[in-house]
Amino acid sequence: DLDLEFVSLTKRYGDTIAVDAVSYHFGAGTYACLLGPSGCGKSSTLRMVAGHESVSDGSVLLGGRDISHLPPAKRGTAMMFQNYALFPHLSVADNVAFSLKMKGVDAAVRARHAGEMLELVDMSGFADRLPAQLSGGQQQRVALARALITEPDVLLLDEPLSALDPFLRIRMRAELKRLQRELGITFIHVTHGQDEALALADEIVVMNDARIEQAGPTRAVFDAP
Ligand code: ADP
Ligand code: ADP
Repeated sequence: DLDLEFVSLTKRYGDTIAVDAVSYHFGAGTYACLLGPSGCGKSSTLRMVAGHESVSDGSVLLGGRDISHLPPAKRGTAMMFQNYALFPHLSVADNVAFSLKMKGVDAAVRARHAGEMLELVDMSGFADRLPAQLSGGQQQRVALARALITEPDVLLLDEPLSALDPFLRIRMRAELKRLQRELGITFIHVTHGQDEALALADEIVVMNDARIEQAGPTRAVFDAP
């Protein structure tokens, strides 16, 4: 269980300052939602934590260790996207086990781990399907399994539920909270839905114009005058 800290984290794209010296501490195992208007710097923040975008200044510490210059696969983070980004020609099991294949883990071990992960997200029995044969909600569970198989300390989610219909969205919220309880990992979930944040978050970080405008336990943030 590792805590996550942003120290003066900064992202510049040319003259645009997308994230402006943001400092914040997330306790280990917390479910945090990052809220704020479009363009305020939420995705850039998440991508810097994941390592999909370089840090312009400052750092990201995980368990006190500076991870901001490590390759994405070596950070202890995993990211799940809005559009799932599953490989269309690979089976569900091969999608889930993809990162293990990259690491050279042998086929039998990969299949066993993928099976465990599919069980965790309630998708046992779908291992041999192709992504196109699944509903949006099912594809999302597969994407979740694919992120979790790397055993991350921090799971990063960028608007993960926004493509789902309202019924599935409610169900996936419950699934995410269950995973938080079972795995004890830290969640950083970008959303612009206040209702979503209220339903999921232990802690809310509100960004505006590249900075943190307000942050704290969910109740305190939503009850603030
Ligand atoms: P949010 O996720 O809150 O919508 P982003 O992090 O995507 O915000 O964007 C923050 C700011 O950085 C915006 O002004 C956006 O236009 C700019 N931006 C984001 N990505 C890039 C990029 N790759 N190149 C240039 N500007 C970018
Ligand atoms: P979001 O608002 O969900 O973060 P965007 O639609 O703003 O997503 O951005 C989608 C992609 O376009 C991202 O990869 C981002 O880096 C890039 N992008 C966003 N704004 C700009 C920009 N002003 N110039 C160049 N690339 C950008």
